[in-house]
Amino acid sequence: MTARAFVSLVGAGPGDPGLLTLRGRSALASADVVLVDYLAAPELLAHAPRAEVIYVGKKGYSPYISQQDINALLIEKALEDGGKRVVRLKGGDVFVFGRGGEEAQACRAASVPFEVVPGVTSAIAAPAYAGIPVTQRGMASSFAVITGREQDGDADYGNLSGVDTLMLLMGVRNLAAVARKLVEAGRAPSTPAATVQWGTTARQKVAAGTLATIADEVARAGIEAPAVTIVGDVVRLREELRWFDTSALFGRNVVVTRTRDGNSALADLLRAKGANVVELPLIKFVPTSDTMALYRTLSQLRSYTWVILTSQQGVSELFRHLEEMGQDARAFGDARVAAVGPATARALERHGIRPDFVPSTPGAAHLGSALPARAGARLLHLASHLAEPDLDEALFARGLTVERAELYGTEPNEPSDDELAALQAADVVTLASGSAARAFAEVAGTNFKVAVMGPQTEKAAREVGFTKITLAREASLEALVEAAESAMGTMKG
Ligand code: SAH
Repeated sequence: MTARAFVSLVGAGPGDPGLLTLRGRSALASADVVLVDYLAAPELLAHAPRAEVIYVGKKGYSPYISQQDINALLIEKALEDGGKRVVRLKGGDVFVFGRGGEEAQACRAASVPFEVVPGVTSAIAAPAYAGIPVTQRGMASSFAVITGREQDGDADYGNLSGVDTLMLLMGVRNLAAVARKLVEAGRAPSTPAATVQWGTTARQKVAAGTLATIADEVARAGIEAPAVTIVGDVVRLREELRWFDTSALFGRNVVVTRTRDGNSALADLLRAKGANVVELPLIKFVPTSDTMALYRTLSQLRSYTWVILTSQQGVSELFRHLEEMGQDARAFGDARVAAVGPATARALERHGIRPDFVPSTPGAAHLGSALPARAGARLLHLASHLAEPDLDEALFARGLTVERAELYGTEPNEPSDDELAALQAADVVTLASGSAARAFAEVAGTNFKVAVMGPQTEKAAREVGFTKITLAREASLEALVEAAESAMGTMKG
């Protein structure tokens, strides 16, 4: 047996990429190969930057790769080149109509070790995002998950008579027949029913009716797979508990401009509001133009009183260069280390450095005004040449000067044709820095509603010609999301 061969059967969750588990994320991070099906959110592949990605999607009823072939591929990849870590990323939960059991059996038969990382199943999550709890005190105390696919054998609908709530998967095509059989088995035709397509995503669509009408309602709404149909009194609760598809951002195209890393947290928050997030990288990182100067500075890190880091990208570049120089975290000597905020601090901690100072409000200006440094201290800011002047200004106001070393450079990134097309459909653009405002205006113009974070960004946005500007009430991602919501008009709920 090849030493590294290992298979993780990972539940990708129902669609919203925020619903992946932490265990699933770390399996992806260490994957050599990912076998992914079409129900898994494509955004999740960003967690597997090193992996070879193979699509083994099965769509609707016509699998274009057979289950046997998937099993064989899984084993083949696990045994390749002395053993690989393979993640089998499956929509929803691995063992809920996911044929994960068969994949585990294939691993067992080939003596390939495996693990199972359960996922959030669409059977519960799609109703949840439609505002339908599958149990509710006094209303429903049991549920069953059933399939509408004939080849999986008809459920014995008579046997389900004691079950309060039913969730029907893979059932759009046969919905009329299944509804009829449920009525024949004794369920009242007036039983409430709802069908949720692409639940938990910006494309979520819901049709509601009763067992007697749901098939017609679904046809009228043009709903197709993938969809979950919920049958039972709990469906009535949607009227009161609807929450996801009521946000002003639901189904809207929201652009997240990336000038630095760390914006995926914003994308996650927007997706949680049902937004269709378009991520637009505006700059790309390039190696520093003066490596010799950088190495000179890095070899003297220990002579500084404070070394200041203001981005995760900076932290990873720093350690990449130290490694190239044959050094590690000890290069800091007794120098103290400051981070601009929690994300940069965490990046440092991953390299064995616990920062001595992180401002209680993240941001370069706050860091500059609160850094516990005395007059005469030697300060070094490790940044890109794009670093905004806020830090220098705040330190200067206190009579402190800071040296800067360029860890990496940046260049404007021309959007692809697909990205430009997506921009045409944008409803609102989020801007978190002045440089983002300038770079966005440069590539896409200013005829957009923008939600901006920070008065500096607002000022920069106005200067380059944006007119429909909503300023976030404070410098936080949550406030930026709220600003995007109010830019969209009526804030509901
Ligand atoms: N293992 C998956 C189910 C796989 S079977 C899980 O636990 O969710 C595929 C069926 O799942 C689809 O036909 C549909 O009924 C359901 N499904 C998957 N994702 C869905 C989504 N986002 N919204 C609604 N139904 C979904």
